[in-house]
Amino acid sequence: MQGSNQEIIIQGTPGSPGIAFAPVHVAARGFESPEVYEISADKIAAEKERFQQALDQTKTQIDELRNHIEKIAGNGEGQIFEAHLMVLEDSTLLSKVSNAITERQHNAEYAFYAVMQTYLEAMRRINDSYLKERAIDIEDVCQRVLKNFKQDAEHQDHLRPDHHHIIVSYDLTPSDTASIDRNHVLGFATEQGSVNSHTVILARSLGIPAIVGLETGVIDIKALSESILDGYTGKLILNPSAETTAHYKQRAKHKEQANKNLQSLREEKTMTLDGREITLSANMEFTYELPMIFDSGAKGIGLFRTEFYLLEGGEMPNEHEQEQVYSEVIQAVQPHETIIRTLDAGGDKIVSEPLSQPEPNPFLGWRGIRVSLTRKSIFKEQLRAILRSSIHGKVGILFPMISGLREVLEAKEIVKRCMDELSAQNIPFDPDIQIGVMIEVPSAAIMAHEIAREVDFFSIGTNDLVQYTVAVDRVNPYVAHLYKPTHPAVMRLIDTTVRAAKDHGIWTGVCGEMASDLNITPLLVGLGIDELSVGAHKLPSVKKAIRSLSLSSCTEMAQEALKAKTTVEIAELTTAMAKTSYADLLD
Ligand code: PEP
Ligand code: MG
Repeated sequence: MQGSNQEIIIQGTPGSPGIAFAPVHVAARGFESPEVYEISADKIAAEKERFQQALDQTKTQIDELRNHIEKIAGNGEGQIFEAHLMVLEDSTLLSKVSNAITERQHNAEYAFYAVMQTYLEAMRRINDSYLKERAIDIEDVCQRVLKNFKQDAEHQDHLRPDHHHIIVSYDLTPSDTASIDRNHVLGFATEQGSVNSHTVILARSLGIPAIVGLETGVIDIKALSESILDGYTGKLILNPSAETTAHYKQRAKHKEQANKNLQSLREEKTMTLDGREITLSANMEFTYELPMIFDSGAKGIGLFRTEFYLLEGGEMPNEHEQEQVYSEVIQAVQPHETIIRTLDAGGDKIVSEPLSQPEPNPFLGWRGIRVSLTRKSIFKEQLRAILRSSIHGKVGILFPMISGLREVLEAKEIVKRCMDELSAQNIPFDPDIQIGVMIEVPSAAIMAHEIAREVDFFSIGTNDLVQYTVAVDRVNPYVAHLYKPTHPAVMRLIDTTVRAAKDHGIWTGVCGEMASDLNITPLLVGLGIDELSVGAHKLPSVKKAIRSLSLSSCTEMAQEALKAKTTVEIAELTTAMAKTSYADLLD
C-alpha cells in the first residue's frame, strides 16, 4: 500500500493509552523477523546477490540433509525435504522478493521475510489441514534461509530494532508483551487482538501505548516508516507531516501535565462527595511494577495475577522460591492487603503444561481453578508458599474461574490440608488469612448467596464475566463490537453478587478492566462495590473520578440502570453522570 512518503492514517481500536513517536518495526507471525533497513539504489544488485547466496547455501544444506536421512533411514525418507527444495525454486516467489528489493529498497532478508509472510498468511487462513502442515515446512525453510544471510560490516550500521521503535505485528501473545524491552519499544499495534485480551491488559499495566485490530494488514506497512501511535484514539499515523507531528507533540505534553496534576491526589482518600469511602487497589502481574504501584497511591494489591510469574520463566518456581516472591510483595504492600490469585493458566494465557492436542475452546476449557484442582501438588505448593508468606502482612487468597460451590469447598479443603501440614511442621502462617473467589462465570454470580457463606470476599472479574455472559470471546476481533460491559444481564449479575455479599457481611471488589473505565465508575459506585482494583497508571484518575461523585446520585442512577432493557440505555445513564462530574478526565 505504501509507495511514497505520504501521510497515512490507519485506524484500529485503542488498547492502551499514551502517544508514542518512533519508526515502525514490522513483525509478522510464525518466526522471528530479521532486522530491517533501507538500502541505497546503487546497492540493489549486491543485495540481490546476497539473497542468491543465501538461497544457494540453503539448497546445499537441505541436499546434504536429504542424503543423510536417506542413508540412515532409507525407504525414501529423505523425500520429505523435496517440498522444502521446491519452495526455494518457486520462480513466482523469488521474483516477488527480487521486486521487493528493487521497489521498496529493503534489505534482502527483510524483503524475503515480508514476501514469505504474505504467502504463509494466505496458507494459514485457508481451513485445510494439508496446507497448514505445509505452512510449517515453509516456515522451517524460511528460517534456514534467514540464518544463511551473510552479514558484512556495512550491514551492522543500519537502524536496528534496538533503537526506539513501535512494533507493528500480526498479533502478540501475552508472553511476547511481557518480554517487551521497554527501553526500546515505545508502543505496539496489532492486526489481531482486542481490548480485553491479556496482551492489552499487560500493555496497560506496563504503560505501553497500544492499538489492536488495525484495519490494514501489517504486511502492507512499510517497515521503518516514521510513525505516531495514538493509544487514546487508536490511530497509527505513518509518515506524519510536520503539522501532524506538532499537533501530537502538543497533545502528549498536555496529557503528561494532566497526569502530573493527578499525582497531587496521592495522599487523599478515595471518598465520594457524600462520604462513601472505596478501597482503591492495584492489579499487578510482575514485581517490577511495585514502585509504580507505590507511586500511584494504591491501598493494596487487589489482584496479583501469579500466572505470569509462575509460567513465563519456563520452569515453575518451587515452594521456597514462590514464598520469597510473595513475601517481598506482601512486605512492600503492608499495612495494606495483598490479594494473591492462584494460578489462572489457560484461556489466552500460557498453559501450565503441554497438552496432547490444542483445546478447541480454551476459554471454556482447562483453565484457572480447574487446572489447580487436577494438579493438586502444584496447587498445594502455591498455597503453602502463600501461607508461609502470610506472616509478613495482610494477605488474601483468590481462586479464579470458580463456577460453583463444589469447587470452592474443594479448594478450601486443600487450603485446610496445607495449613495442617504447616502446623505439623511448626511453620508459622496467618490462620485468619482471607479467602475469596473471582466472580467471573455467570453460574458463580447466580450462586453468590451459597458461595458467600464460604468465603471472606468476592472479586468480580468483569473481563471474563462479560465474555461468558454475552458469549463473546474476549480476544476475538470479529465479535469485539458485541463485547458489552454495560449489557443489562451483566449489570444484574453484578447486582446479585453485591447483594449476596452484603447479606453475608463480606465485601465485593471489581478487578476486571471495567474497574478502570471512567465512564462506568458511577455505575459501579452506585451498585455498591466496596473495592476497585485497577492498573497503577489508571489509579489516580479513578480516584479523582470517585472524589467527584456523590453516592446518593450514583445509587439512584444504578437503580434506574437495573431497570433498563438495553446496553445503550445503561451506557448513556452512566456516561452522562461521568460527563457532568469529571468531563476533564474522559479521553
Ligand atoms: C477478569 O476476568 O476480569 C480478571 C480480572 O481476570 P483475567 O483478566 O486475568 O482473566
Ligand atoms: Mg478472568
